Amino acid sequence: MLKRFIDRLRGRQPSVSKSTMRLQVIKGLQHGISRRQISAPASKVLDGLQEHGYQAFLVGGGVRDLLLGATPKDFDVATNATPEQVRSLFRNARIIGRRFRLVHVLFGRETIEVATFRAHHEQDLKTASTNAQGMIVRDNVYGSMEDDAERRDFTINALYYNIADDCLYDYVNGVRDLDARLLRLIGHPDTRYREDPVRMLRAIRFAAKLDFRIEAQTAAPLTQLAPLLEGVSPHRLADEVDKLLGCGHAERVIALLEEYHLLPYLFPDLVLNDSSRRLIEATARNTDERLRIGKGINPAFFYATLLWHAVQQRSRQLHDQGSALLPALQQAIQQVIQRQQVRTAFTRMLATSLREIWEMQPRLEHPDLRRVDDMLQQPRFRAGFDFLMLREQSGEKTAGMGAWWHRYQEATAEQRQLMLDTIIHARKQQGGGAPSKRRRPPRKRKPS
Ligand code: ATP
Ligand code: MG
Repeated sequence: MLKRFIDRLRGRQPSVSKSTMRLQVIKGLQHGISRRQISAPASKVLDGLQEHGYQAFLVGGGVRDLLLGATPKDFDVATNATPEQVRSLFRNARIIGRRFRLVHVLFGRETIEVATFRAHHEQDLKTASTNAQGMIVRDNVYGSMEDDAERRDFTINALYYNIADDCLYDYVNGVRDLDARLLRLIGHPDTRYREDPVRMLRAIRFAAKLDFRIEAQTAAPLTQLAPLLEGVSPHRLADEVDKLLGCGHAERVIALLEEYHLLPYLFPDLVLNDSSRRLIEATARNTDERLRIGKGINPAFFYATLLWHAVQQRSRQLHDQGSALLPALQQAIQQVIQRQQVRTAFTRMLATSLREIWEMQPRLEHPDLRRVDDMLQQPRFRAGFDFLMLREQSGEKTAGMGAWWHRYQEATAEQRQLMLDTIIHARKQQGGGAPSKRRRPPRKRKPS
C-alpha cells in the first residue's frame, strides 16, 4: 500500500536525480501528439494501469513515429507495475520472454507490449547478469522511469508520453536528436553494443526506415564489433533479419549492412559480386515497392536471393566432383540451408519454400514441354517464376525464359502451342532437344 502510494506520488513528478540526465518536460502544444492518435487498446492499457495507481507511459516506436508524423506500427507501454501486476489487471494478458520479461495485452489483432521499468544491471547482480563478452543474458531488474530511459537503446526511442497530463518526458535529449534526424545510442556505444549486439542491427533498421543519419560515435564501433553477432541466438537473429528486410526500406538496409560489414555475420555464405549485387538490389527494390502498395511479401524470397550465388557455386563444385547436375543442385541447397540455419533459425516452412524456389529454376529454364501447363498450376509456380524474372532482370543468363513464361501465361491456347513449337524447333536445331546444360547423352537418331 505504502509503496503504491509513493509510486503514485512519483508518477506525477518523475525524479531527476541523475547528474548525467536532465529531464525535459514538453507540454502538449509543443509536441503535437494528441490522445486521438493513440489506438483504443493502447489507451485502455494506459488508463487501466493509471486507474490502479501505477505509472504508465507510451514509449518507444509509437511515440517516435507520432512525433515524426508517421503511423506507428504498434504501441509500447512502460510502467512501474511488475509483469504479474500488469497481468492481474487485464483479462487478455500473458507474460512472455525470459531474458526480458514483458506482458502482451491482446485486443483482437492488436497487441500492446507492456514493459516494467528496467534498471541498469550493475545495480543488482543477483537478478541481472552479463556473460564473459559483456552481453546481458538476463535483464529483469526493475527500476524507476529514469533508470528505464537510460537503458533503452536510442535517444529517439526513449521518449515517454503521459496520456493523463499530455506531457512528453525526455531524459536523453531525444527530441533534439529527432529534430536533427540523428540516431544516437544512449550511453557508451561500445558497452551498449556488447550488452546486446542486436542493437547494431536495430541501428541499421531505424536509420534505413526513418532515413536518419547514424551519429558518428554510434556508428564508429559497428564494423569492429560486428563479429559479436555470432553470439546472438539464431532465433533472435532470424526475427531481426525478417524485420530488417521487411521494414519497407530493404534497399537502404542492404546498403548500410554492407557499408558497416555486417552482412557476413548474418549470411556467412553470401557471395558478393556484381551479378549477385544486382540481384539483391532488384529484390530489395521489388520488396519495398510491394510493401509500399500494400502487397504481402514472401520472406523466403530474400533468402533465395541472398544465397542463390552460394548455391550455384556449391552446386558447380559438386558437379565438378562428379555429381550429376540435379543431385548436385539438391545437395548444394541442402548444405546452404543447413549452414544458414545455424546463424538465422528460420522456420521449416521457409526452408521448404526456399528449396522449392531454387529447385524450380532449372525446370523453368529448361522446361519439360509435356508438363508446362501442369507447372503453371502448381501453387509454388509463382514464387519460382518471380525469382526467375528477377534473375533475368539483374542480367543473369536465363535464355530469356523468364520473359517466355511471362508471355506464356498471357497467351491464348493457339499462341501457347506456337510458343511450344518454337522451343521444340530450337531444341531440334541444337541436336536432339536436350537443353545444353543438362548433360544428357545426345539422342541417337534412327537411321532413315
Ligand atoms: P518498431 O517501430 O519497430 O516497433 P520500436 O522502437 O517500438 O520500433 P520495439 O522492438 O517495439 O521497437 O521496442 C520498443 C522499445 O523498447 C524501443 O523503442 C526501445 O526503447 C526499447 N528496446 C527494444 N529493444 C531494445 C534493445 N535491444 N535494447 C534497448 N532497448 C530496447
Ligand atoms: Mg514497437
